[in-house]
Amino acid sequence: MPVSCTPTSTYGLVIGWGEAATKILISYGQRRSVARSRRRNARLTMAGDIMPPVLMYHSVAPQRRDPAPWTVSPKRFDQQMRWLSRRGRTGVSMRELLEARRNGSRRDLVGLTFDDGYADFAEYALPVLQRYGFTATVFVIAGRLGGYNTWVEGARKPLMTAGQLRQLAAGKIEIGSHGLHHVSLLSVTDADLSGEIEMSRRVLQEVSDQDVPGFCYPYGEHDGRVISAVQAAGYDYCCAVGYSEFTGRYALPRIDIVDSDSWPFLWAKGTHYWLRWEYRGPGSRFLVSASRLRAGL
Ligand SMILES: [Zn+2]
Repeated sequence: MPVSCTPTSTYGLVIGWGEAATKILISYGQRRSVARSRRRNARLTMAGDIMPPVLMYHSVAPQRRDPAPWTVSPKRFDQQMRWLSRRGRTGVSMRELLEARRNGSRRDLVGLTFDDGYADFAEYALPVLQRYGFTATVFVIAGRLGGYNTWVEGARKPLMTAGQLRQLAAGKIEIGSHGLHHVSLLSVTDADLSGEIEMSRRVLQEVSDQDVPGFCYPYGEHDGRVISAVQAAGYDYCCAVGYSEFTGRYALPRIDIVDSDSWPFLWAKGTHYWLRWEYRGPGSRFLVSASRLRAGL
């Protein structure tokens, strides 16, 4: 399934490729490895279901203002959303995606997430989302509302204010927490960890006047201690970036989207997702191992 991006029509190609690969692999006597691959994939999924596909964005703004690769131009963003829409996919917030998954109706949904809470979201991303009837989750840094992205080198970009956050929350945009200050949670003290995770949730719930069920790890970094803290704070889910031994509801992997991602790249990323998380056929163990090697994991 498409990166949820992988269009239904591409399944035939993917499956065709898979069948060719299967013939080769069968010649190596694959029965045992197939069984192992199924067990391995089962371990990678969220209890009883496949991983929900989630795209990760940061800033959407005209490129001439910011050459950072994680800034997607409004034109490219529109192309990407149109591509999803034309393939029958609907971009939704994490809250909606996980709710639909619980109800067994997630088939054509793609999670859309925006990290850091850049002020440009309302100006450039929201109109495009509304054009296609999509929603999204914005992970906001609670202690930096109205501030700047001083944790990265390069162009300074303004972050949304409390007022802008409130307006988004009053629409269909889900607000999630990205911590208090955007620091790595692996090296903070227990007291600071609690502040980053619990306090940020309280602040955002108060500002948005809504529940804040989701957390997103700054830099995607997490370990067992961090996951215990987010669970204790009452979060329902957490977003990470790549695969880890903790992959699951509290460390959901996401697909990083950049400005150069025209539709063939989206297709390729969607196919990679599908092969890695959803494909259960012969040779899947080989494919998962290969994807881990490519990712340097
Ligand atoms: Zn971030």
